[in-house]
This record gives sequence, C-alpha cells and structure tokens, in this order.
Amino acid sequence: VPLKKRNITVQAPQPPDVSEIAGRLAAWFALHARDLPWRKRIRGKRNPYAGLVSEAMLQQTQVSRVIEKYGEFMQRFPTLHALADANESDVTAAWAGLGYYRRARNLHKAAIMVRDQFGGKLPNSVEDLRLLPGVGRYTAGAIASIVFNQPEPLVDGNVVRVLSRLYARPGAADDNVTLRWTWDREAEVARAAGPDVAACNEGLMELGATICTPGATPRCDICPLRTLCIAAREGKQSQIPAPKASKARARLHIIMLYLEGKDGTILIEQRPPGGLWAGLWQPPCLELPDTSPEQVPASVRTWLNTPSRTGPLRNVILTLLCTVTRTLTHRDVTFEVYHGTLPKLDPSELHTITFGAPKAKRTITSAARPIPATPAQLTSRGISNAHAAALTAAQTKLKSPQH
Ligand code: SF4
Repeated sequence: VPLKKRNITVQAPQPPDVSEIAGRLAAWFALHARDLPWRKRIRGKRNPYAGLVSEAMLQQTQVSRVIEKYGEFMQRFPTLHALADANESDVTAAWAGLGYYRRARNLHKAAIMVRDQFGGKLPNSVEDLRLLPGVGRYTAGAIASIVFNQPEPLVDGNVVRVLSRLYARPGAADDNVTLRWTWDREAEVARAAGPDVAACNEGLMELGATICTPGATPRCDICPLRTLCIAAREGKQSQIPAPKASKARARLHIIMLYLEGKDGTILIEQRPPGGLWAGLWQPPCLELPDTSPEQVPASVRTWLNTPSRTGPLRNVILTLLCTVTRTLTHRDVTFEVYHGTLPKLDPSELHTITFGAPKAKRTITSAARPIPATPAQLTSRGISNAHAAALTAAQTKLKSPQH
C-alpha cells in the first residue's frame, strides 16, 4: 500500500520576547549585581563623574585591575572640576598601571570640556556625550542609560555574545553585520525596559561577564534567560558567536638604552604627543617596526658594539642586559635593553643620539630633549606597562651578582 505523502513543515524558533528579556535582566541584576565602587548611589542616584571615570578605565582593562586603581584615582581627583583643573602630567601619572594612556588624556580633556562648555554637568544625551573626547558610541550609550536611565542601547563584546546566543545568531563577534544587528536588537531591549533601562543594560553586560561567558561553558543552569535562549535550547552555546577572524599581528623591535650616570640617575625622554604610547616617558629608544632581532640593520649593530663610535656616546661601552617580549593587543613587542655608564649625564649633548641609523630611521623623535631622572621619577611621570616591564627586567639584571 503506497504511503501517503505528508507535508512536514519545520517551524523556525520564535525569537525571544524583548519585554521578557528586559524584565528578567533588570530583576536579576537587582539581586546579583557585583558590589563595584563606581556603582555606589547617593540618594538613589549614580554619580555621573564616577560613571565617566569608570567607563574610561574599563575600556580594554579588566574589572579587577580597575578596582585596584579606581579608588586611588578618585581620591586624587574627587570631582570633575578637580580633574579638569589638574595638569595632564598629573592625570597620566595617576593612570599608571592601567595602560592605554590615551584614555587618561581624553578623560582629562572631556572633564575640561564639561567644565567649560556644559556648565560643569555631564550631559545626559548620547548626542552631547559623543562630543566629549574619548566617548564613542558604546560609552555614550552606557553613561546615558546606566547613569541617566535614558532608553539608549549599548553594545560591547559581552552584549554581542549574550544576544547572539539568545537569538542563536551564528555570525562572528567582530563582524560589522553582527555588530549592526546587535545594536538594533539591544535598542529594542532598551526601549522595552522602560524605566528599568539602567538595570537592564547593566544586567546585560553583567550577565555576559559572569554567567554567559565566552567559550564552551556558559553557566546556563543559573541563567535568568535560560528558558528564552535558543542557543541553549539547541545546544549551540559553544559555537555562538563564531570565532573572530584572526588578524595578522604587527611586530615591533625596540632597542632601549639604559644610560646611567654616576649618581644613579638614568636618561629619559618623552614620546611625541601623538601615536603609540603618546606623551609617555621612556629611556632613549630606537623603534624598528616589522623587524626581528636578526633583521636589525648592520649599521645599528655596529653602532651598539663599537665604542669608538662618534657622537655623544663615544667610548661608552654598551652591554646587552636583557631581551624582553611583551604581547600587546595588536602587536608583539621585543625590547633589547643595553646598559651604559656615563661619567656625566649632560642632556645638552645627549639629545642627538642616533643609534647609528640615519636620523630619518629613528621613528621616535622625543618631544623634548632627554633629561636625567631616577627610575622612580620616570615611573611617576607616566611610562607604558611594556617599557616598565623592560626597565624592571634591566634593573633586576643589574642587581644580579652575575652582572
Ligand atoms: S542560557 Fe546560556 S547561552 Fe543562553 S544567555 Fe543564558 S548563559 Fe548564555
């Protein structure tokens, strides 16, 4: 007997209800929010200045690291006016340890702008917030919604992951289409949250940071969105979002000169105001992009190894102290640190150090002539974490009995 044909239709899963998502996130956050110093409320309200500072610090830095530095920074600059009135060098020094010093300079400029153009009050609209230096779409959305309870979306890596999994959308997290899609979905969720938008948005990020974590083991069993989540229902959490396309990493080789005077001071110089590690301090360095140790130009090797060189370091013996490698977000950096002792650190002569390379090849030209300083003074002026690591390794080597 012929079997009757049956029409089988596979129904696409219903997208989760945005009001339900918003309500559950806000309720969950009210019970489970981590106690973080910038979340303190005064008479039920968040401190807008604390919101601005914490958002600047949290960009590309882990919460645990920010907690270590936040209190100290707020003690040093307790109000927006205190920050706006400070010297930039004091602000970057207080930022030491957080890295990405451009954020400190932008935060300082933003405080000045709020003082001078917004009557000292942080604006509450995304449009005005985005006029502030260093405030992009995410930060403006975060401050507007979390601090001022405006129905604005915010999207960071956590939000992309949670929403992609909720809807079982498989795109890569850094794909532009995925990002546009996430901004649209999050705008719907934020609107649906109504007066609970602050708790909803912060809850969404908190959930991504603590429960819906990257990789194969999100804690779905305790997730408030479990029954709405299509990826969890289909067992696809570990595949969503798709891995980011790997980008080729840049390489940077740095020859650093640890030039010590008889009084224990070393020579330091300030980097130019733009570009990588802008405005920070360092011992004199030669930067060689896309170069491995074997590819360092022969003229530079000869200059380092031949004390009979001409110029202000004539007859100074330069000894290789250590090689230090650091992995930054977008590049791998290798430092070769050379030590030399000078009877007198005379900055008027020493600003012409050329490293044996034609001057044009010295990619970093200091903003001002080098000055002598103690290593502690160098740290307090503001130094990148990478240079600080190279310096620490050099000092350890100098103190070792084998040296
Ligand atoms: S159920 Fe699991 S995958 Fe879905 S949002 Fe919650 S933690 Fe993430």
